[in-house]
Amino acid sequence: MKAVSPRLTCYGGVGEIGGNKFLLEDKGSKVLLDFGAGFADGSEYFDTGISPRAVNGAGDLFEFGLLPELPGLYSEKALQNTEVRYAEPDVDAVVLSHYHWDHTGRIGYLDPKIPVYCGETASLIHAAYSESSSSPLDDHVIRKFRTGDRFRIGPMEFVPVHVDHSIPGAYGFVVHTSGGTMAYTGDFRFHGPAGSMTRDFIDAARREKPRLLLTEGTRVQSGDQKANMSESAVMEEATKLVKQSRALVFSTFRGNDVDRINTFHRAAKAAGRRLVVSMKIAILLEKLKPDRRLGVPRVGRDVDVYVRRKKSGRLDDSDYYPWERPFLGRGVSAADVRKKQGEVFLHLEAWNFPELVDIRPERGGTYIHAATEAYNEEGEKEDAVIRNWIEHVGFRYTQLHASGHAPMSEVGELVTGIAPSVVVPIHTEHPRLFKAFKGGKWKLTPPKKGVPLQI
Ligand SMILES: [Zn+2]
Repeated sequence: MKAVSPRLTCYGGVGEIGGNKFLLEDKGSKVLLDFGAGFADGSEYFDTGISPRAVNGAGDLFEFGLLPELPGLYSEKALQNTEVRYAEPDVDAVVLSHYHWDHTGRIGYLDPKIPVYCGETASLIHAAYSESSSSPLDDHVIRKFRTGDRFRIGPMEFVPVHVDHSIPGAYGFVVHTSGGTMAYTGDFRFHGPAGSMTRDFIDAARREKPRLLLTEGTRVQSGDQKANMSESAVMEEATKLVKQSRALVFSTFRGNDVDRINTFHRAAKAAGRRLVVSMKIAILLEKLKPDRRLGVPRVGRDVDVYVRRKKSGRLDDSDYYPWERPFLGRGVSAADVRKKQGEVFLHLEAWNFPELVDIRPERGGTYIHAATEAYNEEGEKEDAVIRNWIEHVGFRYTQLHASGHAPMSEVGELVTGIAPSVVVPIHTEHPRLFKAFKGGKWKLTPPKKGVPLQI
């Protein structure tokens, strides 16, 4: 039988942002690059009120083609109510680019015998989620890597190289197969505090001469290109806003965006205030403390922890989960925030806005919406609700955000910098727009879901 030459099949991230699921095959070895959930996954059938039933494992997702029905991939539990028969794993590993849901979200369905390779920092983020709620990686053996390592899975050699993204521990990869070399960017940007790391990836990838480049293109779009705000510009603006305010300042931002936590900690400090974070952020900061390069603020010394009231009356340890209890002694309550409104910069996720009823802030404070602007109907509805709350408490609404993704022109710089022969755009709604990038002799190959590409 003729040996099949190495190939790559995209099962997600095809014409969509998120949902990255790529299968690499080489001489009988199989590796998944990410196994995430799509942001719009099945939104025609599922929404906030209608969800796939956990009891039906992968069944409700198979129904709508949201997971590939491949043998030797899923756990017995995920398959128990489906027509796919359980088989011993046929896939050797998952290699994870970073710990965002659209890259990790479906790993929980996979056979726990399949190990997950991830960056050292991503494993610490996993540990924080695992302890405070759950993580898709919970049942899997974790093998850690860092930049400078190389590891083999069957005939394939993986070279992970760090990139700058809105979560630490993000990587791109160069993969040497028996038939040629490919590179995968993961998610990247250049305008974060570690922008030079993405340049390191370009340099490393270029040196390894990949034939095929699998690259994200979240912000590749036609028409108006939004101004690209850097994380340092966010810091400057936030510092100004906090300094100007005499009343309470609070902000909504993604709790695992460690750059943002650092940015707002510095802004608060420059304005003589204390940043107060949620318990979920506190446990993440505790887990990331050993990673000195991240330089995260220390819980208790640099930042305080907001303690939500769970019952009326006196605070009692037994009302809180074991992981929450160590923070109670260092906690700040709604009443504490009310007493020191001009001295606090509070992180408050939208779902915690009812805390404002207890805080009863004085009118005239500042709200910083430090998140992506709404891009669909659901997002617009949530935004309207947020604005109603801000108006209700008489605060000023401001928007301040640096994206986790490079703008279109910089995606083009990455492509021409790496100089592959074939470009496969993923994690983008506009794969064909990549042809706007000049300066290379590469061929544009938008992937088709489930159709293999030669490497
Ligand atoms: Zn991401």
